[in-house]
Amino acid sequence: MIPAPFDYERAESVEQAVELLGQHGEDARLLAGGHSLLPLMKLRLARPTMLIDISRIGDLSYVREEGDAVAIGALSRHHDVHTSDVLARHCPIVSHTAGEIGDPQVRHVGTIGGSVAHGDPASDMPTVLLTLEAELVARGPDGERTIGAGEFFTGLFETALRHDEVLTEIRVPKLGPTQGWSYLKFNRRAQDWAIVGVAAVVDRSDGGIAGARIGLTNMGTAPLRAGASEAALAGADPEAVAGAAEAAAEGTSPPSDTFATSEYRQHLATVLVRRAVEEALER
Ligand code: FAD
Repeated sequence: MIPAPFDYERAESVEQAVELLGQHGEDARLLAGGHSLLPLMKLRLARPTMLIDISRIGDLSYVREEGDAVAIGALSRHHDVHTSDVLARHCPIVSHTAGEIGDPQVRHVGTIGGSVAHGDPASDMPTVLLTLEAELVARGPDGERTIGAGEFFTGLFETALRHDEVLTEIRVPKLGPTQGWSYLKFNRRAQDWAIVGVAAVVDRSDGGIAGARIGLTNMGTAPLRAGASEAALAGADPEAVAGAAEAAAEGTSPPSDTFATSEYRQHLATVLVRRAVEEALER
């Protein structure tokens, strides 16, 4: 439970963090809330030789409207995302989901940027961002680039971020009046990680479903879209939801662990997709 030795520097700005990442190479890691990185270091599953503390960079903590989107600074704490009036008004699936992460202690220290950059397939927010087709903004030595959530989550604890880039902002589209949403998470205790989670954003039409986007948590090495269910719901009647949900686990290979077998997770996905789409149609 004691980390391997490491050096520590505090960055006062994003520019300084990028510079320090460049100086110290691939063995350097950014430290935001530390709620994912420090447990890994204590177990010696991560052994960075240099920690670059970005937690005090104040101008990366905000939630604000920007045209058709809501921009969230990467260092915004889960608690701030959960209690944001702007998100409650324009993209409530994000504020709701932030309130489902861990417990109050975790939510007051962990950051949305850390949750996204960590690339853990059991994390809740990456699935929601994938479902919303959010954009992620990263800054590196060559300037800023924007990465679609569909390209960002590349594998188990892997993302499209380069080792010398800082994730600075998450942009989520505002939901319109015809778009219903849901995030459902199945776990054994209230503060646990999802055994399986499901995000749904449903475009309602007159008495029917114009289209649906569905994301899955902990059903593979990265957050996934339930493509077969989405295809079955496009232009369908609400009566089609149960049948469409049966296809939710198609093409997935979820892990087996002490909490659930792979088959149980696949079954859970079908149940949660049905419930999530039904809930989204009601909202
Ligand atoms: P850190 O631990 O500081 O960093 C994580 C990784 O991201 C590191 O590799 C770091 O270098 C990198 N990083 C951080 N910020 C940036 C950035 N801006 N740019 C580039 N790289 C960056 N999560 C859930 O989704 N659902 C849960 O139910 C849940 N339960 C939890 C319960 C407990 C008891 C704990 C300890 C954690 C739980 N978490 C859960 C994880 C929690 O949400 C973490 O806060 C989050 O995953 C990581 O955020 P952080 O700010 O602590 O990142």
